[in-house]
Amino acid sequence: SNDDKTKFKGTWRLCNLAVPLDQDPGKDFLEVSDELLEVIAKLLKFPVASMLPREPFSVVRKSFDARKEPKFVHTVDMDVQKLLSLEPRSWDFISQLQPKVGLVERVHDGGDFGHLMSIIQDCKENSEGVVKGENGHSIFSKELNKKQDTKKPKIAVVGSGPSGLFAALVLAELGADVTLIERGQPVEKRGRDIGSLIVRRILELESNFCFGEGGAGTWSDGKLVTRIGRNSGSVIAVMKTLVQFGATKQILIDGKPHLGTDRLIPLLRNFRQHLQDLGVTIKFGTRVDDLHIEDGHVLGVMVSESADELRLRSQKLECDAVILAVGHSARDVYQMLLTHNVELLPKDFAVGLRIEHPQELINRIQYAELASEVCRGRGKVPVADYKVANYIDKNDFNESSNSKVENRSCYSFCMCPGGQVVLTSTNPSEICINGMSFSRRASKWANAALVVSVTQNDFKALNYFGPLAGVEFQREFERSAAIIGGGNFVVPVQTVPDFLENKLSVTSVPPSSYRLGVKASNLHQLFPTNITEALKHSLVMFEKELPGFICNEALLHGVETRTSSPIQIPRDIESYESTSVKGLYPVGEGAGYAGGIISAAVDGMHAGFAVAKKFNLFHGDV
Ligand code: FAD
Repeated sequence: SNDDKTKFKGTWRLCNLAVPLDQDPGKDFLEVSDELLEVIAKLLKFPVASMLPREPFSVVRKSFDARKEPKFVHTVDMDVQKLLSLEPRSWDFISQLQPKVGLVERVHDGGDFGHLMSIIQDCKENSEGVVKGENGHSIFSKELNKKQDTKKPKIAVVGSGPSGLFAALVLAELGADVTLIERGQPVEKRGRDIGSLIVRRILELESNFCFGEGGAGTWSDGKLVTRIGRNSGSVIAVMKTLVQFGATKQILIDGKPHLGTDRLIPLLRNFRQHLQDLGVTIKFGTRVDDLHIEDGHVLGVMVSESADELRLRSQKLECDAVILAVGHSARDVYQMLLTHNVELLPKDFAVGLRIEHPQELINRIQYAELASEVCRGRGKVPVADYKVANYIDKNDFNESSNSKVENRSCYSFCMCPGGQVVLTSTNPSEICINGMSFSRRASKWANAALVVSVTQNDFKALNYFGPLAGVEFQREFERSAAIIGGGNFVVPVQTVPDFLENKLSVTSVPPSSYRLGVKASNLHQLFPTNITEALKHSLVMFEKELPGFICNEALLHGVETRTSSPIQIPRDIESYESTSVKGLYPVGEGAGYAGGIISAAVDGMHAGFAVAKKFNLFHGDV
């Protein structure tokens, strides 16, 4: 009956739709292919696939699965009303479907998501209603302030990483007077600075792998995976906004989306142009050195501009609010906040080493014979990655081990298939590293951090106390790595078998993708024994999961210390305002509220809405 039919309106999600590798039309094909339509027809028990209309179906996720029969596994949304209107006979089949986890799920009827600007435009046009995420939560309401006569609030956004950019975008779209202040350089100049670091060993203190337009994530692998819920309305809004600025649409459906540095750079230029079109003042090469605070309220920021390597005198920029989106390498900012008694809490994080293997070896471990089809990122089979984790119970260690061992976890982090190891130091007397890649992930190398969780007990054990104990803890290892490497940004390395045996074999080290040179060293000198033991124990476990992982070509690089922020800046859960100073909004990774490009962008976006609400640019939920 028609009543029954209305019960079936909305969107149904069809999961686990597998198309064999050899029938897949290729990674640039984002529509429903004939082969996929056949699988859908089979699921719906619809007799003739070619009679099923394509339009009601949209691919929302596509992941490669190399286990047993290699295949692409799809998640597809089905617009039931559209299907019924185009093919009324389909009713006989879909009315028999029962929602079943993993096979057919009904998606909350929350409406479609646009990119952020279209959502905001939509809000401006409609003064009521709520935009809902697929999970039914509102990301913000559409109620706009009708007051036209108020002065535009002046907002200083400090930092142009993902969190600062998205905060600036939301606020500028909603009519605030935004100044975006970035100590580093725009991507064009930053690229040249990074080039001279790699080629001539010149580390520009304010323009490097951590500082500059786009923040730490620009010269990165550009992985867009996140642990904060891929299908949340906020994540979808961020992803669609990236597409609006030029990211490939593939990121919206790819099970493991990634961009790569070459795609991030033009995207950031488009982002910048859009902000400037909205009237945002962008100040590159301008560092915030201090906050101007009176009676517990921020009234402005003190900045110094760089010109021809000279720092000009500090000047004051007045503003109504400061969004602090400085990332976790701006250790000077943490120090400055302490001088104003802003509360900083030490936070647990993880430290360790970066491991590198030949990419072909990882392809072989993950895909066996299929490895030959990877074709350096050109084929349908994605360049192989891995993710390993090991929980270490202190009782796992045998009695003979005289080291003091605690329960910890050790895991791979920021794995870069087809990438390279890069220097992310912001000070020439320290060494810390990370990984980056280009979109095709075509290099010969696969690298990943292998890190061990550390807590305040570890900081105390090395006599580091107080809010910046974690920062000092990081710095200790970064300095040791620089000393062991012998200077000039040379990175200390050790093969995995040597590391396991605590020896330095005389044979020369295998090649590394790290461009500034490596030196064979005993990395046991770097960390306290308990961290080294945890790494050793975990490597042995990882070998069980990925046979071949321990080999002479596997090279450990020291050190990976900046996995996530070592502090958190407390803020109000609703308003995002610092609990210590009014008008200060700590956001993103540096404030301890994000870990990665997407979560930082989402945090910045939410903070943007919270600040907009505070200044009556926007009412409603954030
Ligand atoms: P950041 O991106 O760190 O941005 C902070 C910005 O503030 C910087 O541009 C800095 O110059 C500026 N700033 C700092 N102090 C001041 C000041 N006093 N005045 C003015 N400006 C200031 N994450 C992923 O999700 N996927 C990846 O593949 C990935 N790969 C990475 C590879 C590398 C090499 C690195 C270093 C990081 C990678 N990350 C990756 C982590 C990711 O980049 C960060 O989580 C993310 O950029 C954090 O965003 P944010 O906006 O909080 O801070």
